[in-house]
Amino acid sequence: MEKYENMNKEALQAELERLQQEYHSFQQKGLKLDMSRGKPCPEQLDLSAEMLRMVDNYIGETGVDARNYGQLEGMPEARRFFGELLGANADQVIVCGNSSLSMMYYLIDLGWRAGFVDSIRPWRFFNSIKFLCPVPGYDRHFRVTEYFGFQLISIPMDDNGPDMDMVEKLVREDETIKGIWCVPVYSNPEGTVYSNETVRRLAAMETAAPDFRIMWDQAYAVHHLTDELCSVPNILEECKAAGHEDRPLLFCSTSKITYPGAGVAALAASSRNIKHILKNLSSMIISYDKMNQLRHVQFLKNKEGIMEHMKKHRTILEPKFNMVKDTFARELGPCGIAHWSDPKGGYFISLYVPDGCAKRVVELCSQCGVVLTGAGAAYPYGIDPQDRHLRIAPTFPSLDELETASLLLCLCVKLATVEKLLHTQR
Ligand code: PLP
Repeated sequence: MEKYENMNKEALQAELERLQQEYHSFQQKGLKLDMSRGKPCPEQLDLSAEMLRMVDNYIGETGVDARNYGQLEGMPEARRFFGELLGANADQVIVCGNSSLSMMYYLIDLGWRAGFVDSIRPWRFFNSIKFLCPVPGYDRHFRVTEYFGFQLISIPMDDNGPDMDMVEKLVREDETIKGIWCVPVYSNPEGTVYSNETVRRLAAMETAAPDFRIMWDQAYAVHHLTDELCSVPNILEECKAAGHEDRPLLFCSTSKITYPGAGVAALAASSRNIKHILKNLSSMIISYDKMNQLRHVQFLKNKEGIMEHMKKHRTILEPKFNMVKDTFARELGPCGIAHWSDPKGGYFISLYVPDGCAKRVVELCSQCGVVLTGAGAAYPYGIDPQDRHLRIAPTFPSLDELETASLLLCLCVKLATVEKLLHTQR
């Protein structure tokens, strides 16, 4: 097949007609498929069924009755369990409720409302406050800081993580920049793994704000899709060694290990941070769901247990990711109109289409019954300046559905591109 960029107007017109016919036959199928949100599929949820059948006593290893109030910091065995996962001592961990995102929200709220241990004043007393947002990134991260009135500053990502020259320069000069969102392992949506150098520079950089925070979201740290099992240096240790012990706030949850919405989340930070957070948290809540914490520890046991469990997820997910990538390579590769990420883990694939075409692709797919994440979702304020990025979530649909949806997606990318080329040639 000839590359689209080499086609003259007549060839493009003929291609447009051919694609439109194909599109109409898709429309007739009455599809109803969703490649928008990164949800586990039912088979993945079934992997944790045994956890719900576990009938055991709810008295923890130190005699704490998980059925009752108390122990806001979490069950001791759960703190140890998440400490191993996050690379922190058990006493630097708070085990929370079902959502790590809600804890991220809570900690941004804490900085905004009351400030942190090293704040000169709470963030709400600054005339303008800013937050760094590596792009493309997780829309809900951006939304939290937007909600609190931060100005969102996009930081381009490359294969090593955020552009550190830009980050270092900005934070050195501006005390109103209060933090950065990071998903260091298998970022959402690129699947990028931060390089060792990026992690060390984040830990060591000088910041004008004394209370600068790295929001270190380990959402996909154990969600491997290859044998490589990528990881990054321990940010708590790196920051401590650089004299910035209070800088990082680490988060994770079992949302995509056991059950989204019914899993367990945890955070880790310096001892000073943990003390400050617990003191403030106690105005809001008496204790989290410790029964669920115990169930999770009994079921998954430790990091080794998690890795074994995650292999089962990989068996389900790897063929789905391969299906999407193979379809892209076959259908889009020869036209020379797109490129995409090849993640070694996580939940997403980034697809880059020609500038100005992403919104149109989403529209075309939706008119054929396939829901994609809105174009621009991975950028602050939902605006992709080049309108070219699409976040593809291959986990939820079945393999058959995914094959159909990927084929339609490729068709829509071609259609949108040819429309654009014909329009600009006019
Ligand atoms: N962090 C990232 C990067 C995510 O992609 C998601 C869910 O998609 C979450 C956090 C949500 O985590 P939780 O279910 O623990 O709130």
